[in-house]
Amino acid sequence: KKVIIVGGVAGGASAAARLRRLDETAQILMIERGGYISFANCGLPYYIGGTIKERDKLLVQTEEGMEKRFNIDIRVNSEVTKIDKNKKEVEIVSGGKTYKESYDFLILSPGANPVVPPIPGIEREEIMTLRNMEDVDKIKGYIQKNRPKSAAVIGSGYVGVEMAENLKELGMDVLLIEATEQILGVFDVEMARMLEKHVVDNGIKLITKDAVERFEGKNKVEIVLKSGRKFSTDMVVLSVGVRPENKLAKDAGLELGERGGIKVDEHMRTSDPYIYAVGDAIEVKDFVTGVNTLIPLAGPANKQGRIAADNICGKESIYKGTQGTAILKVFDLTAASTGSNEKTLKRMGIPYLKSYTISGSHAGYYPGAFTMQIKLLFSPEDGRVLGAQIVGRDGVDKRIDVLAEAVRHNFTVYDLEELELAYAPPYSSAKDPVNMAGFVAA
Ligand code: FAD
Repeated sequence: KKVIIVGGVAGGASAAARLRRLDETAQILMIERGGYISFANCGLPYYIGGTIKERDKLLVQTEEGMEKRFNIDIRVNSEVTKIDKNKKEVEIVSGGKTYKESYDFLILSPGANPVVPPIPGIEREEIMTLRNMEDVDKIKGYIQKNRPKSAAVIGSGYVGVEMAENLKELGMDVLLIEATEQILGVFDVEMARMLEKHVVDNGIKLITKDAVERFEGKNKVEIVLKSGRKFSTDMVVLSVGVRPENKLAKDAGLELGERGGIKVDEHMRTSDPYIYAVGDAIEVKDFVTGVNTLIPLAGPANKQGRIAADNICGKESIYKGTQGTAILKVFDLTAASTGSNEKTLKRMGIPYLKSYTISGSHAGYYPGAFTMQIKLLFSPEDGRVLGAQIVGRDGVDKRIDVLAEAVRHNFTVYDLEELELAYAPPYSSAKDPVNMAGFVAA
């Protein structure tokens, strides 16, 4: 069988590796528009900030490495421009040449593009977005060449906040502008407030509830906000969200969902039985609410790639939904969330109760303990855990992962009381913060 994969990063590369593991004889062709496959998107902000020093470290797997190890035909700087699903053929454009390749199965993992809103004055070299190696080279190159003293980050999702921190690490004056009333919209506002304070305490100028009206200026970028306030800066990183790359699928007549993502079933199959789609480009079922939505995260993309490969190879595998487990570093705080937040539950009319607990990351008598705040959302009927958010320092990653499992396996707050979690004074307390959240909620 011949499988063509469109996109060679998170979902695409996972699918390719899994296909090869399941089928030694399949012909696998991976087509990537950019110059690199399997690079670490998630590491890009930290390379810009200098924590990751070597560019090569971002290249998790190279073209040669993957071709050799998995016997995959990889073509970079090649774009799939058309799918003919009746002929089971794609059109590929590379270096000015156009050619066709047939397939038995096609896997689409084209990802999502940074949104560039039609703000007057936005098209200029000082205003950049961050998605791939080409973008990171551009931003890094711009910084090295122009030595900017100041930067503005527009949009305060994960990427925006990570970029603001990393630009600050480079010693710049950083302005973070957010149109809504809080940063990091996946958190509820009271949790976000702690992070906002921390961002400001670390020297970032934060503006919320104000959007960019236009960009002006010749040498410097003048940012004019809707309120009339003006700021001038040397460079701008735009991170106002991403939009699924759906054009290829749409033009081919594949069904799209309401949010513009490619529609797939639980086997990752699109409306065409020979075409699968995975990653940021698809709509997923929200694991808690059951509603179709867009959740662009690396873990789900990798898993979906694997599932598509399983199903193509006749090994039935099902994707049960995405709960949006995510974590980020905000200077020396850690913020993490899983499942639904209160805003979503309220908006959807889903009944919930909530608890807040403040616990030490480990036993208070052992040096170096920090507090973490846990917000737990659960069902008033049966105590089922619907979601959790944590802000703290050490040990947040461990607790959110336990709570993510609780959400995934329909644990109740009574189950949280019972969990037997690893304890010795340097790591936790005899009553772990997750147990505590259960005790208070139950
Ligand atoms: P991508 O990894 O974007 O890969 C899609 C590839 O398809 C692209 O390289 C594109 O060039 C190619 N392509 C598109 N159309 C075509 C075509 N027609 N022909 C050929 N090739 C095509 N997620 C986390 O979970 N944690 C994090 O900490 C995190 N940090 C991030 C930081 C940054 C700066 C960014 C940009 C993303 C981050 N993400 C993070 C999100 C994560 O990277 C994505 O969810 C994941 O990469 C999605 O995988 P994908 O395969 O769907 O798309």
